[in-house]
Amino acid sequence: MAETSINTAETRNGNVFALFEAAARASADRPFLIVDGGTLLTYGEMLDHSGRAAAWLRSAGVAQGDRVVVQAHKSPVAVILYLACLRAGTVFIPLNTAYQENELAYFLSDAEPSLLVASLGLPGETVAFDGSRASISGDLSAAPWTKTSDLLPTVAATSTDPAAILYTSGTTGRSKGAVLTHGNLSSNVIVLGTAWRWQDDDVLLHALPTFHAHGLFVALHLALLHASPILFHERFDNHAVLRDIPRATVFMGVPTFYTRLLGEPAFDKTLCAGMRLFISGSAPLLDATFDEFAERTGHVILERYGMTEALMVTSNPYDGPRIAGSVGPAISGISVRVVAENGVPATIGEPGVLEMKGPNMFAGYWRNPDKTAEDHTADGYFISGDIATQDEAGYIRIVGRAKDLIITGGYNVYPKEVEMVIDAIDGVAESAVIGVPHPDFGEGVVAVVARDAGSAITPQDVAAFVGSELAAFKRPKTSIIVDELPRNAMGKIQKAELRALYKDLFFKSAA
Ligand code: AMP
Repeated sequence: MAETSINTAETRNGNVFALFEAAARASADRPFLIVDGGTLLTYGEMLDHSGRAAAWLRSAGVAQGDRVVVQAHKSPVAVILYLACLRAGTVFIPLNTAYQENELAYFLSDAEPSLLVASLGLPGETVAFDGSRASISGDLSAAPWTKTSDLLPTVAATSTDPAAILYTSGTTGRSKGAVLTHGNLSSNVIVLGTAWRWQDDDVLLHALPTFHAHGLFVALHLALLHASPILFHERFDNHAVLRDIPRATVFMGVPTFYTRLLGEPAFDKTLCAGMRLFISGSAPLLDATFDEFAERTGHVILERYGMTEALMVTSNPYDGPRIAGSVGPAISGISVRVVAENGVPATIGEPGVLEMKGPNMFAGYWRNPDKTAEDHTADGYFISGDIATQDEAGYIRIVGRAKDLIITGGYNVYPKEVEMVIDAIDGVAESAVIGVPHPDFGEGVVAVVARDAGSAITPQDVAAFVGSELAAFKRPKTSIIVDELPRNAMGKIQKAELRALYKDLFFKSAA
């Protein structure tokens, strides 16, 4: 298999879509999206649809540099809309489909988009909003741009122009918008294509959500850069993956995908014989999963590490050893360092905060220069908040999360946001939300709730309240009612103690 060469002439336009356009024009007849076994769009048709969708954005009053907020189910229509935003030079802001109206209201007031697009039936369709809005369904032939015959050529953009804003929550409870530029997206996809030895005849099985960097940028962009066919799954479903794996060569997933696939006896060496590469990220992959996967399929999962603000940062090597529990060394062109508590470089194996710098790094938090400055060092490194160690060979291990972030089923849950909702319930004094090991989700969200004296609040009351306030993945799987939370001498709640106390919670209940 020959490796793909990139048409560097096209990179003169700093718009990341110029890279994709060059590849698509050279392979216009190749399938772009394959849905339910049939080609829904070729690369040539992708160019036509995205050009018309970009013209429709203009006619809807969206200028270059404006922002478009999208709460949409994963679908070919949503993919075209994203590509159209790139082509039109407008800033794409995808939101999790699980967000409820009160959560959306915050994003809309913060992002101030000139257009809100929502899938029929999602909260984005009905949330109060003063600006222009449009609805989409999963039917490409009914997309709003099908009525226009105009095509908008890909606009010129510089590498520092914003391409997207992805919201990432913070421990202070409010989400921050990470501004990613055309240069961030271009540089990352090019280095990943080389690092993972993308092949001209690769076929990607895409089952990740498209409102997050993993599915939207890493997976989609690698296929687009090489005009590779995508077996497009609108959600992760074991049986659909088993059906399509024999037609794919590359699969990207969160660890939960891999544990679920291992639960299928048919997922074996024969089924995976044509696969070239399985990649895992967004949350820690357990050593046990890594080992069982290798034994069952004959493939060694390649684990990599990244974050919304940084895209992909480290990766186990394609050719060298892929080590369980490690996320590998820094990707070419990116610098990482581990800094110990006293601000000096950590020694080999010593845990410290992982910091990073490179062309992959976001431009800053949207309208939040103070937070942007706070999260960078004087010499320009981004302070990730992840605790890591590094070995002699430069391999990084992520050992903890400084900010108490919970990752459940590949989704991030920031405890503070859940705590603020629970603390508003009558009869609750305060709460501590923690993540504890969960056999299916990696971590499960647990709320330890201190009741007001004399209150008779129950876990069912907590569940009923959060149900209307929070996306399902953020809701505690269990609430534990206590009289008071453990605190240290400085008055800080001792979350580590709570995590230790409840570490077996989901294993006991499963037994
Ligand atoms: P997000 O911004 O949603 O992509 O989440 C980024 C966070 O996910 C990182 O800061 C890490 O805490 C975590 N993460 C991503 N990849 C890995 C990995 N391979 N192993 C452990 N944690 C990871």
